Amino acid sequence: MPSLRGLLRTPLRCLIAALACVTTQASPTQAQRPPAGAPEPVVFVFDLDDTLIRYLRPPETEAGLVLPREGDLFGYRYRVLDGVAEMLHSLLREVPGARIAFYSGGPRARNERILSELMLPDGRSAMEAAFLVLSKEETIQEVGDGHPAQNTGENARFRGHEKKDLRQFARDGVKLENVILIDDNLAWAHRGQEKNFLWLGSRPKFHQVRLGEGPQSAEEFVRDRNKLARARGLIDRALEKSRSDGIPISEALWRLQWLPNPAGGEPLYNEPLWTDAALYRRGAQAFHRANPKYRFTPAAPDGTQLGCVRDRIEALLAEALSRVPASP
Ligand SMILES: [Mg+2]
Repeated sequence: MPSLRGLLRTPLRCLIAALACVTTQASPTQAQRPPAGAPEPVVFVFDLDDTLIRYLRPPETEAGLVLPREGDLFGYRYRVLDGVAEMLHSLLREVPGARIAFYSGGPRARNERILSELMLPDGRSAMEAAFLVLSKEETIQEVGDGHPAQNTGENARFRGHEKKDLRQFARDGVKLENVILIDDNLAWAHRGQEKNFLWLGSRPKFHQVRLGEGPQSAEEFVRDRNKLARARGLIDRALEKSRSDGIPISEALWRLQWLPNPAGGEPLYNEPLWTDAALYRRGAQAFHRANPKYRFTPAAPDGTQLGCVRDRIEALLAEALSRVPASP
């Protein structure tokens, strides 16, 4: 049985503590369309459902920003997930050549309405800031050896019939190797475009506004609620690897996320990335620079900040981490 002291040296413990040190250093604003001679454009393509938004599933409670602001869209209302505006804004202002785009399996009318109401810290809507918006109407039906199961999350891996073909973003000087799809469902990956995928992890069965109101452990809660911060940190790490190794960002993301399967077959996800405190910290710092009001969601009940009830937080983490399998 690991000691509490040992447990508190684990990545998740560091993850929470490190966020108490978020800095506010600003970076220069980056135009979405760089002038000639600027770095190559990189397109960050965001899925919508369970990546940026999540429809309210009873009995999930309503809190934070919900869209549309009035009424519903085809019977649904959507929670905007943690760090969405900060993610979009921080990429545009800090990543040279960055463009943001959207590709959702939902209908175009819904997607455009949501993106028109989703505001960035600079006052633009996500729709106005987008390089391109694609919807269900532009998804690809893949025939052949694809698996009929769709939206089954982690188990589906890269299989599935309905695909998002990222070649549609390779235009206006954009190379396909510089197009990144950020999505919760691996099954959307088009054949030959697996390296362009940044995986957020599978969607939770239940979105918890507060720890304890649903079945998630403290670790699951922190991972899910801060998944965009982790993804933002992973983007920065991939950009660094791209520069140091002289490889495209898509290749860098592939090498960071996936490991060869010794048994053959599908690659294995690099599991330690889920609890890599440095990734969450880098992402949260970028979000904080984009919006000083941004706050990392800690595993403390009722939004209690670290340091106020340290014993209670440590007990929560110890309980959660005792069920985390050791890293290989
Ligand atoms: Mg999704």
